[in-house]
Amino acid sequence: MIFDTHIHTSFSSDSKMNIKDALDKAKALGIGLVITDHMDLNYPDKDKFKFPVADFFKSYEPYKSSSLLLGIELGMDTGYEAENKNLIDTYNFDEVIGSQHFLHGFDIYDASLYREKTKVELFRDYFLEIIASLKTHSYIDTLGHIDFISRYCPFEDKEIYYNDYCDYIDEIIKLCINYDISLEINTRRLGMAKSLNSLVSIYKRYKELGGNYVTIGSDAHTVDSIGLNLDKGFQIAESLGLKPIYFKNRSSEYIK
Ligand SMILES: [Zn+2]
Ligand SMILES: [Zn+2]
Repeated sequence: MIFDTHIHTSFSSDSKMNIKDALDKAKALGIGLVITDHMDLNYPDKDKFKFPVADFFKSYEPYKSSSLLLGIELGMDTGYEAENKNLIDTYNFDEVIGSQHFLHGFDIYDASLYREKTKVELFRDYFLEIIASLKTHSYIDTLGHIDFISRYCPFEDKEIYYNDYCDYIDEIIKLCINYDISLEINTRRLGMAKSLNSLVSIYKRYKELGGNYVTIGSDAHTVDSIGLNLDKGFQIAESLGLKPIYFKNRSSEYIK
């Protein structure tokens, strides 16, 4: 069964999706889901992008099945190393996506981040921050959306070109391989040919350096987005010889 391994529901501050609607959509598409709601302990607003984990499990465990798994999207931050680790050790998540949502103390979504520096400077800082985060969060299962900054940066050309940042991207890839962390193919931006092509160069390099495993997820926050561009993600994996996986009880399972 194909799994969409990155799904937000109403436990995420930026989603209103009801799990029953998500399940109906997944059933119609014939796919499995891993629910991965947002937990960014570093988010400045105390009530935002955090969820009560015990309530999450209590509410969703009745829906758990071989095609509905319960994970988390964990906001990585070197300043929250101990808190993040404690959270992951305390609860039985199926899958832990580690994501870089912050840079220089700003939400990457926040326009203020982009006032002072050039694209090249900021993208380098972004990759350096991912490197630092991976070193302090080596237990994550998969590295979420390496192109997150491309979603929100105001630059005319938002894409990551591997050759411009090869040393940094290589280090990220090597850390993932050494720590046995899978790389996510986040399908959200694969509908744009330019984005798809620039991302393929990164996944190609991952394979060249010895990477094998990818999780493929839509990062859906609404029912309509569930499964969006998953076919493109699977095509990338197949064309590069990468193996799509999902995580169940923190162990990787092949998607056949
Ligand atoms: Zn994210
Ligand atoms: Zn997400």
